[in-house]
Amino acid sequence: MKEFKTESKRILDLMINSIYTNKEIFLRELISNASDAIDKLHFASLTDSKIDSDFKITITLDKQARKLTVSDNGIGMNLDDLEKNLGTIASSGTLAFKKENEDVKELIGQFGVGFYSAFMVAKKIEVLSKAYGSEDAYLWVSEGEDGYDVVKSEKESYGTDITVYLKDNEEGVDYDAYVQQYFVSDLVKKYSDYIRYPIVMDMTKSRKKEGSDEYEEYTEQETLNSMVPVWKKQKSEISDEDYNNFYATTFYDFEKPLRHVHANIEGNVSYTALLYFPAKAPMDFYSREFKKGLSLYCNGVLIMEKCEDLLPDYFGFVRGVVDSSDLSLNISREILQQDRQLKAIAVSLEKKIVSELKKMLEDDRENYEKLFAEFGATIKFGAYNNYGAKKDELKDLLVFTSGKEKKQITLAEYVKNMQEGQSVIYYACGENVDKIDGMAQVERVKSKGFDVLYLKDNVDEFVLKTLDKYDDKAFKSVSDKDLDIGTDEEKQEMEDTAVSNKDLTDFIKEALGNKVSSVALAKLGAHPVCLSYEGEVSLEMEKVFKAMKTASPMPVEAKKVLQINADHAILSKMRDLFNTDHETLKKYANMLYVQAMLTEGFEVDDMSGYFASVCELMTK
Ligand code: ADP
Repeated sequence: MKEFKTESKRILDLMINSIYTNKEIFLRELISNASDAIDKLHFASLTDSKIDSDFKITITLDKQARKLTVSDNGIGMNLDDLEKNLGTIASSGTLAFKKENEDVKELIGQFGVGFYSAFMVAKKIEVLSKAYGSEDAYLWVSEGEDGYDVVKSEKESYGTDITVYLKDNEEGVDYDAYVQQYFVSDLVKKYSDYIRYPIVMDMTKSRKKEGSDEYEEYTEQETLNSMVPVWKKQKSEISDEDYNNFYATTFYDFEKPLRHVHANIEGNVSYTALLYFPAKAPMDFYSREFKKGLSLYCNGVLIMEKCEDLLPDYFGFVRGVVDSSDLSLNISREILQQDRQLKAIAVSLEKKIVSELKKMLEDDRENYEKLFAEFGATIKFGAYNNYGAKKDELKDLLVFTSGKEKKQITLAEYVKNMQEGQSVIYYACGENVDKIDGMAQVERVKSKGFDVLYLKDNVDEFVLKTLDKYDDKAFKSVSDKDLDIGTDEEKQEMEDTAVSNKDLTDFIKEALGNKVSSVALAKLGAHPVCLSYEGEVSLEMEKVFKAMKTASPMPVEAKKVLQINADHAILSKMRDLFNTDHETLKKYANMLYVQAMLTEGFEVDDMSGYFASVCELMTK
């Protein structure tokens, strides 16, 4: 007996002891594997006439032995395949166990532990398989956690038979149902109707005996599924449940997608697309391992499982299938990349996705915001990548938090609600809404009735810089020293105050040295000081570059401006000290600087000096 790999053991354990109520999905998983196995051979059969093209999946029920068998005449597995595929779980599965309390539903959802799900209903599973082109057949047997055996065996033709020996009935779970022909045929119709190969089963029926009143039983093989792939059906024939079922089985994501798009495009290039916007990013979505792509079919025949070229990176989250009769079947992958038709489809798909996302913004805002929370980062990436080559297409898909309303708004909505006399779009960067709310400059801008976009992602400011303008309105950071708000009178007054305090601000600048590039007065409401910047590099950019930790030859630093509130008592206090006690004034200047830095989320080198000053003040 061989042991399962540790991870597989734990998945098995979860399956065997699963209280997951939807145990019936195991059948769909086995059928889907069978269909994949046939797909692999089907593709080869296009160029190899030796392959029997009578592809099918056969279900056999045995009431006495309480067993159900799913057979296929697909590619089959050799000894090595059996060990590798059924002895271990796909490596991505290992990730799952970082989370101790993974729920089975999620597990199946994220990793499609397809084959193993049969252990939800089985006390023993046998897999008899013969690989196409091989002489030998092997039998793999397992009764669950203890492990499995593989022995040499006999099988007439290539393909795989998977036999599930049902568990004993338990309270509330009637495993016998899985050998009842009508129950099983309903399951096939419910979950596997679109499978492209016939799923056949012997059905026992009764009929009147000829020339007599008696009834007799007879057996007839029936094809249970319609075999029409969902995307080939009329939209009116497909329910949301059908769409979602197809999604779940094809992409192993059991969370309902946020939206599906079923489009028949006729034009330069004709194709059918069934696209889904998932509710959750897969675990590896933001890693290098993630592979985007849509399944590509030519007239219902799969030519590529994940065709990357159909999706731009920033729509990499979209899942789905594309079926076109304008593509050649025997095309190789290398040639496919150059294919003009394929490029035309990609261009058209991108447009379709953009328009569908815009529609979603209009008619299903709640789900759009969910989608943006999951995938907004890639859309933003699309907007600033390549010097903003795609910014015009993507700018209307962006949403940011409105400081006024505390909800997500688009740039168009911001502009629509601009106040009279407002000429720019204000934004503020910070870690979270509370912190941004607490910024002096934010309060000030809001006090004028202007809304402020709250930018919480590192990349947000780069995105706005790349857009440069929206609807001819420039973007303006509230931390920009030249915020330039207020009436002409107010501005004049500020200027006068600045002139009469120039000796003081010069002194403070001198005291702070090159920690700041200048010191200025401003109106800051209740806040004594704040930090702003002048020049090209914003405070946020400095933080982003620092966080990247890549040794850049020239540190990217903002030219910081310490702004002191002209209306605050602290100013007259400093004024007094300027006339009486320069040493204390220097200390206070430094304390205010530290406060401003900390409020902005910067680190300060000499914290102990600051604490000493605070204590000194407290004990005075
Ligand atoms: P998944 O289907 O998600 O890869 P499974 O655990 O369901 O995961 O199956 C593991 C692997 O075992 C499959 O990828 C496939 O290579 C192989 N396999 C399963 N069932 C069959 C089958 N009926 N015929 C051939 N290979 C199969």
